[in-house]
Amino acid sequence: MGEILLVIDEGTTSTRAMLFAPHGKCLGSHAAELTQHYPGPGLVEHDANEIWRRSLECASAMVSKAGGPGAIAAIGITNQRETIVFWDKTTGEPLAPAIVWQDRRSAPLCRKLREAGEEPGVQARTGLLLDPYFSGTKIAWAMEHWPQLKGAGERLAIGTIESWLVWKLTGGLHITDATNASRTLLMGLGSGGWSDGLLGMFNVPRDALPEIVDCAGNYGTTPVFGGSIPICGMAGDQQAATIGQACFAKGDTKATFGTGAFVLTNAGATPPSSKNRLLATVLWQLGGRRTYAIEGSVFVAGSLIQWLRDSVNLIETAPETEAIARSVQDNGGVFLVPALSGLGAPWWEPEARAAISGLSFSSTRAHIVRAALEAMAHQSHNLKTAFAADGADWARLRIDGGMVTNDWIAQDLADMLDLPVDRPDFAETTALGAAMLAGVGCGMFASLEDAAAMRGPGQTFEAKLDAGAREARLAGWQAAVRSVLT
Ligand code: ADP
Repeated sequence: MGEILLVIDEGTTSTRAMLFAPHGKCLGSHAAELTQHYPGPGLVEHDANEIWRRSLECASAMVSKAGGPGAIAAIGITNQRETIVFWDKTTGEPLAPAIVWQDRRSAPLCRKLREAGEEPGVQARTGLLLDPYFSGTKIAWAMEHWPQLKGAGERLAIGTIESWLVWKLTGGLHITDATNASRTLLMGLGSGGWSDGLLGMFNVPRDALPEIVDCAGNYGTTPVFGGSIPICGMAGDQQAATIGQACFAKGDTKATFGTGAFVLTNAGATPPSSKNRLLATVLWQLGGRRTYAIEGSVFVAGSLIQWLRDSVNLIETAPETEAIARSVQDNGGVFLVPALSGLGAPWWEPEARAAISGLSFSSTRAHIVRAALEAMAHQSHNLKTAFAADGADWARLRIDGGMVTNDWIAQDLADMLDLPVDRPDFAETTALGAAMLAGVGCGMFASLEDAAAMRGPGQTFEAKLDAGAREARLAGWQAAVRSVLT
C-alpha cells in the first residue's frame, strides 16, 4: 500500500484533487471549473455527469502525479453541501439536473410549512430551519415536478455530492456520511438515522436514500484509476475545514471566509439546540458516535469584494483592498451592510437589501472599501453574540478561506471580536480535513488528534484596539443593520 492521501474536493464553482504526504505536505493539486446553470431567477443547477467527469479528470491527474494507484493509501472526499443528485440505480445515469444549495425554488414550500407551524418541530429533530438552502425541500419540489423521478420507481437513487461520487467510483455503493446527511432535513440529529416523519413531510421514498455511515472507515475500493484504491474519508466542506483546523475540543471555533462565511463551533457529544437561529449539525461521526457543531452562515463575504470589483468598479483586484483600507485612519462614519442576497444568520431575512450609510462630502472610495472589509468583522461579531447567547461563546477564532490572506481583515477580526485570531500558513483546510479523515479511515492514524500532526505552522493576530473605539464602531454597525431590517 502507498502512503499518499488523495483528496477530491468537489466545490460549487470548481472541483479540485490534491495529494498529501502523511506528515501533511501538499504534493500536488489540480482543479477544473464547473459550469453553473441558471435556468431562471433563483434557480441554480449543476450537471451531475460534469461533476463526475471533472472530479475523475482531476483525481486521475493526481494519481499519475503520485506515480500510479499503488502510491495512494486512501481517498478522502469533501464536497459542496446540500446540493442534491437524482440518478438511475441500474444505469448510474442522472435522471435530472442536480439542484444546487443556492437554489431558491422551494421557497414557497418552506413558507407554506412555516405558516403551518412546522418549523419548531423540524428544528428540534434536524437542527435546521425551513429554508430552501437545505436538501429536503428541494427533493420535495423535484418529486412533484419531475415525473421521471416517480416514474423510475425502485430504480431511483437520491444523494448529496459525496454519495454520487462514491456511487460512480465504486460502481454502485450507495452511502452518505453523517455530516452530509445532517444537511438534508431528513436525518434525526440525535438518532443519526433517516426520520420516517420527515421523509413523509418531504415526500421522499426511503429506498431511494443512501445508508448513513461514519466520516472515516474503509467504505469500499475504486477500480477507476487502474488499480484498487480504498475510499476512507468523507465530510461536507465546512465540517472538513473544522477538522482541518483541529477544532477537536468543545468550544473550538473556526470561520471560513470564502464566497460566503461559515462559522462552526464544536458543541461536543450532545445535540445542541439554538434559540438564536443558528444551526445544529453533525461535525463528524466516528465509530457510530457523533460530535456536533453549532453553525452560523453569512451569505455574503468575498462575494462583496467581487461585487466592488466587477459590478461597481471601485477596485481592480481583491488584494488591493488591503492597501486601500490602510490608506485612511478609520471608516469616516461610513458603514456597509452587505445584504446583497438577504441576510443569513442570525437574522435569516431573505428580503433584506444592502446599504451604504453615513456618506458625506468627505467620504472617499477608500472609506467605502474600508467599510466593506469592516463588514466581515461586524457580521462575525453578530454571530459571536448569537453563539454566546446559545452558551457557545468563542475564546479564540481559527480562520481560513481566500479572504483572510488579507492581513488587514485578520487583524480587524481580532480587534473587533477582542480575541486572538489564528491563521494557518496552509490555507486549504477543507482538503486537509478530508485527508485527515482518510488517514484515520485507512489506519494511518489512530485518531483525529494523531492526524492533526498533518497541520503546519500558523500566525496569531492579537486584539489591539481599545474598548471605546470598538464599542463606537459596533454601535454604528448596529444602527446600519437596523436600517436594512425595517
Ligand atoms: P470559495 O472557496 O468560496 O470559492 P475562496 O476561499 O477561494 O472562495 O475565496 C475567494 C474569495 O475571497 C473571493 O470572493 C475574493 O473576492 C475574496 N478575496 C480573495 N483575496 C482577497 C483579499 N486579498 N482581500 C479580500 N478578499 C479577497
